[in-house]
Amino acid sequence: MIPFRVTLAVAAILVIAAVVLVAWSLRRRAARGPVARPLLCPGQRLSWLRSLSPLRLIHTPLCGYDLAGLSPGPDGSVVCPECARHVRSINQARRDPRRLHLGRAGLVVLAGFLALWFSPLVRTGAWVRFAPDAVILAAKQWLGGYNPPLFERALAARVSDGSLATWVRPWAARLIANDLRDDEIKWNADRAVGLLRDLRLDGYRALHAALDSDDHQQRHLAARSLRYWPGMGASDRVVAVTVEGLREASGFVSECFDWLGEHPEGATDHLAAGLSSDDAQQRFLCAALIGLNREDALFDRAAPMLLEALKDNGVEEDAKVAARALAGFSPEAVIPALEAIADSPDLQQRTLARQVLEAIGAPAPMVTRVDARPMRTTSVRLNPATLDRDQLLMPWPVTPLPAPTDPAASAMAGK
Ligand SMILES: [Zn+2]
Repeated sequence: MIPFRVTLAVAAILVIAAVVLVAWSLRRRAARGPVARPLLCPGQRLSWLRSLSPLRLIHTPLCGYDLAGLSPGPDGSVVCPECARHVRSINQARRDPRRLHLGRAGLVVLAGFLALWFSPLVRTGAWVRFAPDAVILAAKQWLGGYNPPLFERALAARVSDGSLATWVRPWAARLIANDLRDDEIKWNADRAVGLLRDLRLDGYRALHAALDSDDHQQRHLAARSLRYWPGMGASDRVVAVTVEGLREASGFVSECFDWLGEHPEGATDHLAAGLSSDDAQQRFLCAALIGLNREDALFDRAAPMLLEALKDNGVEEDAKVAARALAGFSPEAVIPALEAIADSPDLQQRTLARQVLEAIGAPAPMVTRVDARPMRTTSVRLNPATLDRDQLLMPWPVTPLPAPTDPAASAMAGK
């Protein structure tokens, strides 16, 4: 019975308003006390149209000049010196000084409420169907997170079936894009993404505006939605927000990384800028993507970070990513750099360096001494033996390899 809640709230407001108006009116009447009633000029005569207006019930115009002191003419009429109204008889003078009749207003509200309350249209909430689009949207705009589900559902239905008026569609898209913000309401972001798709170009534009939001979640959910927008390539701004998503605190790291690996076009400048980020993770992941995307022009800036990450440094998986990224650069650039660390004192670094060299078809490095130390997998976070040639040269993203059937390969993988 969710519709009932909105209806109840409206009903409560109406009843309270009616009661307040009646009480106020009674209080004023009591405060006036038994004063001698003056004879007041009613003011200019009203046109018949205005005198029939329902507004006359709660508001009567009044000039208010006290006619009591005037001496009437031979026919008993007086002329008001204030407004020149010809008052035919002193009996036409008003004795009630009130222009506004609050008690009557309260009773009108109450009568209207009772008439509505006993209509099934109101009690079931079905009246929302007849509410104009602008009313549904104004409710969402003013009530924000407190917008009743009745209105939310009505809006969603109008967006989905395309019945929303054209002129309110940009407004609707803007309001729905606000649901992508990091708020307390569950699922509203998920629903918003679907509705914005239904709004097509208006949704697309609202999402683009949301890329500049101050709300982290809104920015990144908008970017995610735009990355996969049907029939549209990602704009430069989408790519920029996606690169921002590589930051450590982002919460959207892996999806941003995977997408940038799959869509290198247009990302180079943003990745190059990310190499000088203040965020270590973003720096590293930009370097990795530069390798995966085969951007040899940036090798000198990206490679040192990747070579360093081959070391056993306690960061999970970074060596694996770095090795794959290095394998992406052209051999002329990467072979000398890898050969330089093929004898590194760090076991993981030198093992991976040699593996990458082998994988990209470089001649075996001149290893001057046999590596006699056994592989201590407990201290090496990454077991380099699990990285084979195919994995290193595979295009991004990593698709899990089928279990090796070759017994020799199984033995190599340490099984
Ligand atoms: Zn008058």
